[in-house]
Amino acid sequence: MGNKLQVEAICQGTVIDHIAAGQGVKILDRLHLLDSKARITVGFNLPSKALGFKDIIKVEGRMFTEQEANELALFAPSATINVIDDYRVVDKFSMTIPETLSGAFSCPNSNCITHNEPVDSFFYLRHVSDDTQLKCRYCEKIFSKEIVAELK
Ligand SMILES: [Zn+2]
Repeated sequence: MGNKLQVEAICQGTVIDHIAAGQGVKILDRLHLLDSKARITVGFNLPSKALGFKDIIKVEGRMFTEQEANELALFAPSATINVIDDYRVVDKFSMTIPETLSGAFSCPNSNCITHNEPVDSFFYLRHVSDDTQLKCRYCEKIFSKEIVAELK
């Protein structure tokens, strides 16, 4: 299968597959993957049966934390994460957008109490057609995921 070919170069690490084309760069940036010493291989605009075109990111020697996986789900809900060990896929899971997100993103509302008090940001997530909206627990404002994710 094509999938096996695409992951076989990795000895141990993580492959993020089935990223919607164009989102790969955002993910690299968002997860600060280029700042790390990890060896990264990316493919952009690869043909995909399900998506038409897709991006793929292979990260050698690195596993993703649950928080990172949650952030990833916002950018790449179609993605799958393959955990690679000894050149084999030992675990594979789809993105699930979490119901809540804590600490990952700042509240875009500059008047929000989270900017002045020592509390972590906290959002409730909900799906509206193809979009995901985040509602701040503290100021109760609702933002699209694009707005929240641009800020950090
Ligand atoms: Zn807020």
